[in-house]
Amino acid sequence: MRIRLEPGLCVGHALCAARAPEVYALDEQGFCQSDGAQVAAGFEEQARLGASQCPEGAITLWDEGEDPAAAERGPCA
Ligand code: SF4
Repeated sequence: MRIRLEPGLCVGHALCAARAPEVYALDEQGFCQSDGAQVAAGFEEQARLGASQCPEGAITLWDEGEDPAAAERGPCA
């Protein structure tokens, strides 16, 4: 499973990392820095929980071989 951040949608709520601190990394201003990151084995549910908390629908989770455009997105997508 990989993380994709939709360009321009992250506004720095930091809610993704608040729910899934082992999955989502933030910069010093609270913007998610995990675009393209691989979710470690066993952290898939935490990744989904963090993505579900993003009010901007900025996070897409997708698996290798899958079209990211058709993958899971946050609730506002
Ligand atoms: S990805 Fe969403 S929840 Fe996470 S910092 Fe960006 S806007 Fe906030």
